[in-house]
Amino acid sequence: MIYADNAATTKMSPAAVQTMVSLMQEAWGNPSSLYAHGQKAKEILEKARGDIATAIGADSREIIFTSGGSEADNQAILTAADIGAKKGKKHILSSAFEHHAVLHALKKLERQGYEVTLVDVHENGLIVPEEVEAAIREDTCLVTIMYANNEIGTIQPIREIGRICREKGVLFHTDAVQAVGHIPVDVGEDHIDMLSASAHKFHGPKGVGFLYRKKGIPASVLIEGGAQERGRRAGTENVPGVAAMAEALKESCANMARSAAQMTAIRDRLIEGLRAIPHSALNGDAVKRLPGNVNFCFEGIEGESLLLLLDDKGVQASSGSACTSGSLDPSHVLLAIGRVHDVAHGSLRLSIGEDTTALDADAIVEAVRQTVEYLRGFSPIWRDLTTGKKPFIL
Ligand SMILES: *Cc1c(COP(=O)(O)O)cnc(C)c1O
Repeated sequence: MIYADNAATTKMSPAAVQTMVSLMQEAWGNPSSLYAHGQKAKEILEKARGDIATAIGADSREIIFTSGGSEADNQAILTAADIGAKKGKKHILSSAFEHHAVLHALKKLERQGYEVTLVDVHENGLIVPEEVEAAIREDTCLVTIMYANNEIGTIQPIREIGRICREKGVLFHTDAVQAVGHIPVDVGEDHIDMLSASAHKFHGPKGVGFLYRKKGIPASVLIEGGAQERGRRAGTENVPGVAAMAEALKESCANMARSAAQMTAIRDRLIEGLRAIPHSALNGDAVKRLPGNVNFCFEGIEGESLLLLLDDKGVQASSGSACTSGSLDPSHVLLAIGRVHDVAHGSLRLSIGEDTTALDADAIVEAVRQTVEYLRGFSPIWRDLTTGKKPFIL
């Protein structure tokens, strides 16, 4: 079995599992309790906070633990919206290929009277900083652009966008769930005001993540209740989960350069192999992309059928985001970069991991090649294309 869906979730690292299990056994106290057992849990929590802050160039007081990336996105957007409302600024800039955690939070704000502008995502899956600059208005209270896209893996010019926002005095949030632990992220150098991350995307546990928010930004409260996280996020802290997240992040950062080099080589081997399949195309820039991401469209087939047959061949992949699988709509990301419906339907995302080998890559290419050919054999769309009834797009 070859697992090539690391953008959906990753396997926990043995060290993270070890940390989590031992803390569940030994440090299960409530960090808000004043006796020693509680204080031990509190200490572990704060140590993890410091380690996580260090990994992204932040101060530990700037880290709020959440239940994952989606919650962090929602809290960041709510925070900016509340600050904006106080100043009469109710315009938000984002892009059409954001994660649904961002897009749906923005939709909710639109129903509450905010105005949202989506800047263009170009064909190569990249946003142009100057276009962000041009779209910022007097009443813009937030720019939210993801660090790296979860479907097509393109890495955005975050530092330039951050610099523009800083100059214009507009809050800048980035959903960095696919970036943190995979590529270097530094909130200071990148001029980031708020950043979302999630442990299960870098070999930590599911259901835990964090929001970085720059000192001085009054974070809004999404989850009301007790005074945990300095009153910014109620609920008894997930101490074992948080500590395992810190462990996984430290490990990922320590191995980052080596892993990235190795994965990039395998990624490019996959891209080269898949490009040889007729009427196919890589989605997103070939260079400005995550080390582990490959995303292709194959004309004349259905991505869903491709996935199921690949699963039979022992290859686990995705046709886009896990959130859209199960629905028949093509990926909003592929539509945002200008792929037409028919082409977008025939998409495949392979997100490899640190343990994916060159042999795995060759086996994946062969499995995809055979399956695409097989599916095209009885696809009515493919028949229309090959008989000239419809023109080829790819
Ligand atoms: C996975 C993902 C999320 C959601 O994170 P959860 O921890 O699963 O809530 C948000 N944004 C991006 C870009 C993601 O890849």
